[in-house]
Amino acid sequence: MTLEHLKAIYHQPFFDLLEQARKVHQTHWKGKPLQLCALLSIKSGGCSEDCAYCAQSSRYSTHVKREGLIPVEQVVSAAVRAKAAGATRLCMGAAWRGIDTDDPRFLSILEMVRRVRETGLEACITLGVLSPSAAQQLQKAGLTVYNHNLDTGEEFFPKIVSTHSFRDRLENIRRIREAGIGLCCGGIIGMGESVDDRLSLLQTLSSMTPPPDSVPINCLIPIPGTPLEKQPPVPSFELIRLIATARIAMPQARVRLAAGRLKLSPEAQALCFYAGANSIFHGEKLLTTNNQAPNQDIKLLQELDLLPEDLLGKAENSLQPSA
Ligand code: SF4
Repeated sequence: MTLEHLKAIYHQPFFDLLEQARKVHQTHWKGKPLQLCALLSIKSGGCSEDCAYCAQSSRYSTHVKREGLIPVEQVVSAAVRAKAAGATRLCMGAAWRGIDTDDPRFLSILEMVRRVRETGLEACITLGVLSPSAAQQLQKAGLTVYNHNLDTGEEFFPKIVSTHSFRDRLENIRRIREAGIGLCCGGIIGMGESVDDRLSLLQTLSSMTPPPDSVPINCLIPIPGTPLEKQPPVPSFELIRLIATARIAMPQARVRLAAGRLKLSPEAQALCFYAGANSIFHGEKLLTTNNQAPNQDIKLLQELDLLPEDLLGKAENSLQPSA
């Protein structure tokens, strides 16, 4: 889809946009449950890169402490808990520039992927830059999808990251796809970019063949100590418009209402779902920040009749007043 086409979609009257997105959504996703994904940091802080939004860069002084790779058993316990709470995917994140097969930690990572798959969950991981052979080994271990976000439009990207380029990220995405791994790729809004920068990101994503399987749309959580600590929040209607445009541009992608939900009212979240968001992060924590409480998720999804069937019993229990 061209940038001009995306602009025409995005800037049409709000309710016309919602109606168009809803039609696309119902054609491709009617009756299919919202996906709940759990997020787990497997290696925190101390990253060499300078992504301006990130609490984990070693260049900024933030609340995040540098920690090594967590044990495989810790990942397995998190997967079991996530599954019991209704998640169907565990997303694991490691803060570093990248990893190759000669790093002794790589074997543990392959084991994490295998063991997560054994629990019955989909496994997603983000490890930064991969070599072709690392990507192939992850695919053989059963990795469902690899997360590598483009963050923003190509023109704005250098204002956010200087230690690697937009092209570097595209190259990494090519290696992931060549290995036969699904792709999770999206961005962050609220970093000072224009609406055109956001649409440029959607243009790059929707022009991929095929477009990503999952498209997370994150609202910046300004982290004290990072260069973006003073960024104001994104108006909800801009987020809703972007989600609707993403739904129309990538009908078959799971569009994830990702970081930043804590700042959204239940009504704004409902409009995001109506506009085509069909995946959320479910659990107390994102990688380094808090998420909406799981019982609030369940309450909201139940009110909207979006609760996955296997969670209906849990909803009834969690909504009982406590003694
Ligand atoms: S590469 Fe990842 S962990 Fe490192 S600074 Fe950028 S976003 Fe943070």
